[in-house]
Amino acid sequence: MSNFQLGPAFAKNQDKNDPLATYRNQFHIPKDKQGKELIYMTGNSLGLQPKRTKAYINQELEDWANLGVEGHTDAKNPWLKYHEYLTESMSKIVGAKPIEVVIMNTLTANLHFMMVSFYQPTKTRYKILIEADAFPSDKYAVESQLRHHGFDEKEGIILWKARKGEELANYEDLESIFKVHGHEIALIMIGGVNYYTGQYFDLKQITELGHKHGCMVGFDCAHGAGNVELNLHDSGADFAVWCTYKYLNSGPGSLAGCFVHERHANNKNLNRFTGWWSHNKETRFRMRDEFDQLPGAEGWQLSNPPILSMAAIKASLDLIDEVGFKRLIEKSKKLTGYFEFLLNELNDKHIKIITPSNPKERGCQLSIQVKNADKSLHHKLTEAGVISDWREPDVIRCAPVPLYNSFQDVYHLVNKLKNILNE
Ligand SMILES: *Cc1c(COP(=O)(O)O)cnc(C)c1O
Repeated sequence: MSNFQLGPAFAKNQDKNDPLATYRNQFHIPKDKQGKELIYMTGNSLGLQPKRTKAYINQELEDWANLGVEGHTDAKNPWLKYHEYLTESMSKIVGAKPIEVVIMNTLTANLHFMMVSFYQPTKTRYKILIEADAFPSDKYAVESQLRHHGFDEKEGIILWKARKGEELANYEDLESIFKVHGHEIALIMIGGVNYYTGQYFDLKQITELGHKHGCMVGFDCAHGAGNVELNLHDSGADFAVWCTYKYLNSGPGSLAGCFVHERHANNKNLNRFTGWWSHNKETRFRMRDEFDQLPGAEGWQLSNPPILSMAAIKASLDLIDEVGFKRLIEKSKKLTGYFEFLLNELNDKHIKIITPSNPKERGCQLSIQVKNADKSLHHKLTEAGVISDWREPDVIRCAPVPLYNSFQDVYHLVNKLKNILNE
């Protein structure tokens, strides 16, 4: 039984007693034309800007202005090592060891670079298993890897689908797929938290199943990083990738994260694409040496990275360090539980939450299916001051983010939705 209550007083009181409530003030909250704060429910798509981000980026702009190339070594935060300043905080958030984590490139690019190493098909074992409603970019990436290796993309993909009439993928079905196709599957590549349903998969269970059948296992954690406790190291996954502009608030198109399990840290025989940033840091600038692979995830870097984008990531990670990721998850469970409670109390036959009701199988996002709805519903919500996300054919995704969303945000959102549904 939950201790949640209906009515605005409860929401107000929750906000008053919320130890994280003050962090909302550390973000720029988008406003309507009258200057009233919008109800922002799309942190799962683009996280809001921390107020401190500007100062972090300005620091690097200033050092660049004053020092030019010398900034690589003499900037306040010397640029040569900049990605290293992010590793520890990021590894805590995704539950990994520092040697397993690096910030580099963008998300889909990282997915490809990981598949260069961990998708090594043979004539008989070449298929890739992916969830049915995977994010399009992931699906396109997987298809193009199959084509790149000379395989037919239709034949080469095995979809893990929800059963007819259901929305969520089911582990029994996954096991059945492996009983039949286990020997043909080279790679499992699944969205750790599905972007559409919000279902958080059991990474460990999937990894163990894959490894038992001799497959490599990787996850796209774009919707997991900063949203759920991923425990990537303990999951045993071979690799994972994620972006930092969703729940990690580092700005549009910002750099992405990459995890390579420790067991691969010193394997120099893995096929991979390399550049000078994958090379031993001590001898990198001698420029003539034979290639000398860096150990760990850093050994997959290619280029010297964009410092301005990394500064935005540092701003966001420093803020999350101050809050403490565990506290963030605690509030998240409560906030989303409250959201679910209010939706259920609407008792409206037209709406159905397709996200799992078990808090262990989801993050903060709830995907709400609305019977007979079309995009006009989303339009009305926008008119009412709610920024949410519409997915065809009939799903609204809302993600109350614990860092900056309030209980009152959630209360008003559900109230507005109710009024629109009753029209
Ligand atoms: C957001 C998201 C992407 C976007 O990829 P980019 O390379 O950052 O444009 C890809 N995959 C998943 C699962 C996502 O959630």
